[in-house]
Amino acid sequence: MIVKDPVCGMPLDPEKANFKTDFLAKQYYFDSEYCMRSFIDGPKIAYFSMEIGVDSNIPTYSGGLGVLAGDVIRSGADLRLPLIAVTLLSKKGYLRQKITSDGKQLEYPEEWEPSKFMKLLPQTTTLKISGRIVKVGAWVYEQESMTGGTIPVLFLTTDVEGNDPEDRGITDFLYGGDEAYRLKQEIVLGIGGQRILEALNINVKKYHMNEGHSSLLTLELLRRNNLDADKVKNLCVFTTHTPVAAAFDKFLYDLFSKTLEDEVPLNVLKDYGGSDRLNMTLLALNLSKYTNGVTEEHMEYSRKLFPGYHIQEITNGVHSHYWTCPCFRELFNKYIRGWANEPELLVRVDVIPDEEIWEAHQKAKQNLLDFIHEKAGVTMDSNTLTIGFARRATEYKRATIIFSDLERLKEAQKDQKIQLVFAGKAHPKDVMGKKLIEEIYEYIERLKNDVKIAYLENYTMEIAAKLTSGVDLWLNTPLPPYEASGTSGMKAAHNGVINFSVLDGWWIEGCVEGLTGWAIGPSPDAIVSEEDRRKRELNDIYGKLQYLILPSFYETRDAWINMMKNSIGKVAYYFNTHRMMQKYASDAYL
Ligand SMILES: *Cc1c(COP(=O)(O)O)cnc(C)c1O
Repeated sequence: MIVKDPVCGMPLDPEKANFKTDFLAKQYYFDSEYCMRSFIDGPKIAYFSMEIGVDSNIPTYSGGLGVLAGDVIRSGADLRLPLIAVTLLSKKGYLRQKITSDGKQLEYPEEWEPSKFMKLLPQTTTLKISGRIVKVGAWVYEQESMTGGTIPVLFLTTDVEGNDPEDRGITDFLYGGDEAYRLKQEIVLGIGGQRILEALNINVKKYHMNEGHSSLLTLELLRRNNLDADKVKNLCVFTTHTPVAAAFDKFLYDLFSKTLEDEVPLNVLKDYGGSDRLNMTLLALNLSKYTNGVTEEHMEYSRKLFPGYHIQEITNGVHSHYWTCPCFRELFNKYIRGWANEPELLVRVDVIPDEEIWEAHQKAKQNLLDFIHEKAGVTMDSNTLTIGFARRATEYKRATIIFSDLERLKEAQKDQKIQLVFAGKAHPKDVMGKKLIEEIYEYIERLKNDVKIAYLENYTMEIAAKLTSGVDLWLNTPLPPYEASGTSGMKAAHNGVINFSVLDGWWIEGCVEGLTGWAIGPSPDAIVSEEDRRKRELNDIYGKLQYLILPSFYETRDAWINMMKNSIGKVAYYFNTHRMMQKYASDAYL
């Protein structure tokens, strides 16, 4: 057996390696003492995220934020970056979704077994929450790469012997419970996470907060550094993901003081976290030297929301290899050697013959159609233009916009047909999100003689991978400016699936009209009334579908395949987490 040195990537025979050591419950082999020392004691980036999607079967993610965090870990491992990640165990997951025949979402806990995927570390730390001592333990998951790189992901748990039964449940449900429950989770993540890293003797050079949920870690750093804010700022990097102020996590100081005492004096906390309520975004912003938004447009919005702060931008991506389906992986391996670890090479996609692109796509499409048949009982046709829409079911994503005018929809596809597939979970408290699912079920019924439509239950990363590789067209209709980035369209692009999207988030940077895909509605800086904007969106949805998209798909297959190639060579080559992590390394970490 051959292993690789996790620092330099040198292939080694474990029998003969001179340097080896145990680190976080795993054995590693090294080519030199230098590599071994830098692996154990070298400076690390500690990446904190409330949710991380490391594996489709580990249900510790709810949507794009967690999936992005998973892609950060996957690319970080490939690039052999010295990262260690911290998240919550979420032992009962986010939710398992079932949908009744009339479209009502039912929610069940998604219990999973950590010992199947990870190891429990012997070290623990303690916190005082609501006057009680709470022990915090950690499970470690190892994200390994073919390059030898490996990134440990710590899943924090309060389900530890000796804890009060109530406290044992703090790390049960991702985004569950009330405000008090959420605050406790954020204490465990931010402060418990910092203390666990200390207990494990990790030499942390930077703390990267992925969204504001973990920003209480700044308080722990303040306390340890005699309230020296400059020192703390030099240690912290913050990525904001939210373009609207209403969505920021905020806590009443009353609740905060009852839940967490003795961290830093209240007046100091208010200086950084805001005078009336503790704003987790503001706290992170005030105590991080480097802050970024996740697209150009999102940076602009964040600068408007927080004038006077130096907010930069690093555009999101997806992990190229993970989100490329097996048929396209094979094709890229054949024609574009090295693409997986240097996705910018996808720019050479034109070396692949059209027929092979089409063949790979049809295979992926058939896989999806078989899956839809099995799970939703809907038989779809592999020669019909198939449109996909899947993401969290929440109001601003506007999942039902394509049904705004049923007569126009029927007219648009009267000769050249479409079929539609949806998926997505609503948060248990998101009444509007659940209503959207019900509405889609009503439209399925109303359109049953005109358009085949399927809804896939219990959206996961696995289903996302099937959908973003198996449809022909990926539809995205957020209400600007709510989509800070969006990433599912980037997954589609990796599989030659063409984007048809509102110009919001990443698509503002990705869209070249008619070349890399199609836009819905005017550009974000166009001066039009809200009413006109809605009208133009609908005109584009029905008009472009009828006069550009359907004719291209059915009549000029060459032109269609050329656009598929552009998705790969002009979109995927850039919108990936390898490029993104290299930018974090050069701009934020070093
Ligand atoms: C990629 C992904 C998302 C993000 O989708 P957007 O369209 O960018 O919001 C959400 N959920 C899952 C399971 C995903 O894989």
